[in-house]
Amino acid sequence: MSTLRFHAIKESLNYKPILVEEKERRSDLFGKNVFNENTMRHYLTKDAFIGVMNAIQHGKKIDRSVADQVASSMKDWALSKGVTHYTHWFQPLTGTTAEKHDAFFETVGGGMAIEKFGGNQLVQQEPDASSFPSGGIRNTFEARGYTAWDPTSPAFIYGTTLCIPTIFVAYTGEALDYKTPLLRALHAVDDAATAICKYFDKNVKKVTSSLGWEQEYFLIDKMMAASRPDITLTGRTLLGHSSAKGQQLDDHYFGSIPSRALNFMRELETECMLLGIPVKTRHNEVAPNQFELAPIYEEANLAVDHNALLMDIMGRVASRHNFKVLLHEKPFAGVNGSGKHNNWSLSTDKGVNLLAPGKTPMSNLQFLTFFINTIRAVHTHEALLRAAIASASNDHRLGANEAPPAIISVFIGEQLTKVLEELEGVTKGKLSPQEKTELKLNVVGKIPDVLLDNTDRNRTSPFAFTGNKFEFRAVGSTANCGNPMTVLNTIVAKQLKDFKKEVDALIDKKDLKKDEAVFNVLREYIKASKAILFEGNGYGEAWEKEAKKRGLSNNKTTPEALKARVSKEAIALFEEMGVMSKIETEARYEIEVEAYIMHIQIESRVLGDIARNHIVPTAVRYQNILVENVRGLKEIFEEKYNSVSREQINLIEEISKHIEGINANVTKMLEARKKANASKDIEKKAHAYCNNVKPLFDDIRYHCDKLELLVDDEIWPLTKYREMLFTR
Ligand code: ADP
Ligand code: MG
Repeated sequence: MSTLRFHAIKESLNYKPILVEEKERRSDLFGKNVFNENTMRHYLTKDAFIGVMNAIQHGKKIDRSVADQVASSMKDWALSKGVTHYTHWFQPLTGTTAEKHDAFFETVGGGMAIEKFGGNQLVQQEPDASSFPSGGIRNTFEARGYTAWDPTSPAFIYGTTLCIPTIFVAYTGEALDYKTPLLRALHAVDDAATAICKYFDKNVKKVTSSLGWEQEYFLIDKMMAASRPDITLTGRTLLGHSSAKGQQLDDHYFGSIPSRALNFMRELETECMLLGIPVKTRHNEVAPNQFELAPIYEEANLAVDHNALLMDIMGRVASRHNFKVLLHEKPFAGVNGSGKHNNWSLSTDKGVNLLAPGKTPMSNLQFLTFFINTIRAVHTHEALLRAAIASASNDHRLGANEAPPAIISVFIGEQLTKVLEELEGVTKGKLSPQEKTELKLNVVGKIPDVLLDNTDRNRTSPFAFTGNKFEFRAVGSTANCGNPMTVLNTIVAKQLKDFKKEVDALIDKKDLKKDEAVFNVLREYIKASKAILFEGNGYGEAWEKEAKKRGLSNNKTTPEALKARVSKEAIALFEEMGVMSKIETEARYEIEVEAYIMHIQIESRVLGDIARNHIVPTAVRYQNILVENVRGLKEIFEEKYNSVSREQINLIEEISKHIEGINANVTKMLEARKKANASKDIEKKAHAYCNNVKPLFDDIRYHCDKLELLVDDEIWPLTKYREMLFTR
C-alpha cells in the first residue's frame, strides 16, 4: 500500500476518540457567550437598553451616545470573560465568514495602556477589504468597504474574540455581502405582510420571517482526507471507484451514531449552546458517514448568521476530533449528496404563524391568503428561485437525478389540493349568504382537520408545504442561506403587495366585502398558479416533459440558471422592493458567474494533475511488473509462454488503453480550458467551462476508476472510497 494511504488508514484505526463530557445542562449553557437581551438588561443602562431594543424591534436608529454606552458595556462584559480582541464579523460574497481582529488594548502615553472600545469602533469599521469580490462595484482606487453594526443579530464571543455581526457595503453604499439585501428583503416582507394582516387583525404591527435550516454534512477522517489532493483542494472526490458496499442496505440512515462522531457532535453542540444557536436534532443521514444537524427555527436574519457561524465552527471542532467536515453537495459519487432544507414561515408580533391554520374560519382565511400568495409568488418567480440556489457544487444534486430536481414546483398534499379546488369554484363578485356559510363551515372551517391527516410527504419536491411552513429543499449544503432567503422573502413581499392592490380595488370599485374580495382574488390566483403545483415523482423523466409543457424552467446548470438573476423582471423586482439596485443585482450576477468559472477551473486542474501524476505513473509501474512477469514466463516456458501469460498480456493491453484514455482526455481538457480562458466575455467563458471542460471530467474519471480496479491495491496511491467511508 502506498505510504501515505497506509499511514492514513493506520492513524485512523489507532485514533482514540476524545470523550466529551457534558457537565452542565444545555439550558444553562445556552447563550452564555452572547450579548443577548438578557445580558443587555444586566449590563446596559435603561436608556441604552431601550435604544437597542427599539433598533431591534422597530428598526430605529441608534444614536451615538447610546452606541458609546453599548460599546462600553459590551467591552466590560467581554473582558470579564477573558476576551482580548474584537472583530466585525461579516459574510462577504465569497460564501464564507470574514473577520479581522483588533485588540481592545490601546497605549495612552507614559508607558501605560488601557482597554478601549467605543461607539465608533462598534458602529462602523473600514477593513481593508479590497480583495473581496465586488463584481466591479469598487474599482481599485476606491477599494474601501465599510462594515456596519447589525444590532438585530447579537454580538457573541468566540474563543477570545468579541464578534459583532455587521453588514458589509461599498463606500458608495452598495451591498457587498449576503446580509444587507437579506435585511432589506425582510423589511419588505414585513411591510407587505403586515398590511395584509390588517385585513384580519388591526393590531398586527410586525411580521417576522422565520428560518429553520437542516444542515447535512459528511465526516471523514482528517488524515484520510489529507491524503486526497482532490478533497484538500476542492472539498470533494474527483475520482475514486465506488465501494462494493455503499448505501444499498440503508444501514446508516437513522442508525446508532458512531462514538467518534457522537463526541464531535457533543462538543459542537456545546459550542452552539454557548453561542446561542439552538441546535436540537442530530442523526445519521442516508450515505455512510453522512449526518444532519438542525436547530429550532429562529428569525431569518439570525438563523442565517447562525448557520454561517455553524459552518465555520464545524470545521474547527471536527479538526479537534481528527475529522474533516465535508460540506460539499456531492463529496462522493454514487452515494447521496448533502443539502440544506430551508424551512420558512411568517409570523406576526401577536404570535400567529401565518402559514399555520387557525381555530376560526377567519384565521383560516388568513392562512389561505398567505399560503396561496406564496404559491403564486413561487410560480411567478420560479426561475429566479432556482437561480438563488445555483452553484457549481449544487449542480451535482439538482440537475443530476438526486433530490430535488432542477425544476421548481410546489407540493401541497392531497388535502390542501382539494381545498384549493373548492375555492376555485367560488362565485365571481358578490357571494350569496348561503355560499359564505358553506365556505365557512365546509371549506375554510375544515382546514385544521384536513391538515392533521396530511401525512403524505413527497421527498422529491423542491418546495413542499409541511403543515405549518414551506420547506425549500433545493438549497445546497455549502450555501449561505442569505441568498435563497433574500429571494424568497422578496418574491413573497412583491406578491403580497400586488395582492393588496387587487383586493383593495375590488373593495373600492366593486363594493365587495373584505372577505369576498379576498376570496375573489385568491380564486384567480389558484387558477393562474396551477402549473407550479406538482404532487408526483419529481425525479421521473415524465415530470421533465410535463414541466416543459407547463412552461416551467428546467435549468440544469449554473450558467443557465443564473441568467434569471439579471432578467429585466428580476432587476425591476429587486429595485421595486428596495432590496437591490440594478448595479447590485448585476454585480452579484457577475460574482456568481465568476465563482462558477473558478470552481470548475480549479477542479479541472486538480483532476488533470492527479490523473497525470498519481494515476498514470502508478498504472505504468504495475504494467512494468506485469511486463517483467511475462518476460520471466517466456524464459521458462519458451514458445508455450503465450498460453500461460494470456491474462497478463490482456491486462497490459487494457492498462495501456486506459492510460491512453486518460492522456487523450486530459490533453483535450487542457485545450478546452485554454479556449475557454481566451474568452473575454464571462458568460461565454462560463458556458465553455460548463459544456466543454466539465464533461471531460467524467471521461477522465472513467479511465482512472477502471484502473483502480485493475492495479494492485498495494501500490494504489489514493485512499479508496471504502476506506474513507467505512473505516471506523
Ligand atoms: P423534517 O423536515 O426532518 O421532517 P421538521 O419538519 O420537524 O423535520 O423540522 C425541520 C426544521 O423545521 C427544524 O429546524 C424546525 O425548527 C423547523 N421548523 C419547524 N416549524 C417551523 C416554522 N414554523 N417556521 C420555520 N421553520 C420551522
Ligand atoms: Mg426537512
